[in-house]
Amino acid sequence: MHPIIENPSSSPVTAGVTDEVAERLAAALRCATVSTEDPADTADAEFLRLARHLEAAFPRVHAELTLTTFGHSRLYRWHGTEPGHVSAILLAHQDVVPVDDAQRWTHPPFAGVVDEEFIWGRGAIDDKSRVLAVLEAVEWALGAGIRPRHTVFLAFGHDEEVFGDGGAVRMAEYLRAENVRAELLLDEGGVITDGVADGIDRPVASIMLGEKGYATVRLSVTETGGHSSMPGRQTAVGRLARAVARVQDRPMPLRLTPVIADMLARMRVALPEPHRKLLELTDTRGLATLAAPLVARILAAAPSTEAMVRTTTAPTVIRGGVKANVLPQSAEALVNFRILPGDSVSAVLAHCRKVIRDIGVAIDLVGAASEPSRVTGPGPAYELIAELATDLVPGIVTTTGLVPGATDSRHYDGLAETRCNFAPIVLTAADLARIHGTDERISRLNYARLIEFNRRLIARLAAASAQGEGARR
Ligand SMILES: [Zn+2]
Repeated sequence: MHPIIENPSSSPVTAGVTDEVAERLAAALRCATVSTEDPADTADAEFLRLARHLEAAFPRVHAELTLTTFGHSRLYRWHGTEPGHVSAILLAHQDVVPVDDAQRWTHPPFAGVVDEEFIWGRGAIDDKSRVLAVLEAVEWALGAGIRPRHTVFLAFGHDEEVFGDGGAVRMAEYLRAENVRAELLLDEGGVITDGVADGIDRPVASIMLGEKGYATVRLSVTETGGHSSMPGRQTAVGRLARAVARVQDRPMPLRLTPVIADMLARMRVALPEPHRKLLELTDTRGLATLAAPLVARILAAAPSTEAMVRTTTAPTVIRGGVKANVLPQSAEALVNFRILPGDSVSAVLAHCRKVIRDIGVAIDLVGAASEPSRVTGPGPAYELIAELATDLVPGIVTTTGLVPGATDSRHYDGLAETRCNFAPIVLTAADLARIHGTDERISRLNYARLIEFNRRLIARLAAASAQGEGARR
């Protein structure tokens, strides 16, 4: 059966998805594809169940695109009618974070419950809705005879939540070996937030252009130990505590980077008067003006915006000592840094040494670290995404920005002209807290926006001439 499908319009989406479409997502949410740090205990059976579901739910995609797997990661190649060019790499991830408060959920996190308004479950937003929305759109396009002029890749990782070494890293390597250079790389990250930014009464679409880096630094102190009645001048615990306090009290300097200046310039129209005046003094070319440090200081006043203007420092773990009357032989602390473009992992280590000023404190990196991504300028691909978002949800402000966390797209550096981290779903602050939290869910309306966005994007990438190709099949 071939439903009659009209070309996507440019009108806003006002109705949610049907039961049938909602159920396809819900079935994916019922697969508990939880990623774990230890590659030995992956939820293999759950990933295989998800793979079988995708293959059954999207038969055209699986008949007509070329699929290469890397572990449970899935890289689909949709051949363009003009070979040799790549228009887009659409990323999403199939894995989800664990749930440790299942009894607090309204519905069990892996039950995939659909009601009148929402589709509930871990992964409903992050990130299975994006995996399924892309597949819904491609399945639709194949049914409508649409073929892209330039090749499109779909890359669905299986270990994004644990740094992507088994999935995204290998898929990106494969694409590099094929000399792929796409016009657009699209991934998770920014959304349309409503009522989140202070003093802005319009929803803000954050089409983010890059992400911060990541590093965890271990501070450790080793002493001889002994009885606490003769401690000497300081213990390992005291020495470590001083080091942690120094690192926390002296963060890396504030800086207004070009992408954040661009973000603010685009938001200017929606800002209250005093802020607007100030920003008129700092446009993207005016970074060196007197107002730039002032703007950076204003942003630094709240934790959510401070993250935009500096490498953040978060002491997260501290341990040492066993008993009140025994001198500790060792103590250690972990400090997590999110690194602003322009800083680097090695600059973070150098900064720690400089502010701690104590050779008795060992400073080293632990776990995975990543440099801040290259930030691509807002080119034509950005403009296209912004236009599609504005059509879907009229009245929004579209702007750029930086993803404060880490996504799989950092592994794809250099594989595309423009990288955008964005999904056109409208979320409030309370909705944002559900991501990685309790009661994750997506509204039928947001899911409809997401699918329609991908359809329109594909239709635009395909361009008019490809319609003829499809018709000849
Ligand atoms: Zn995610």
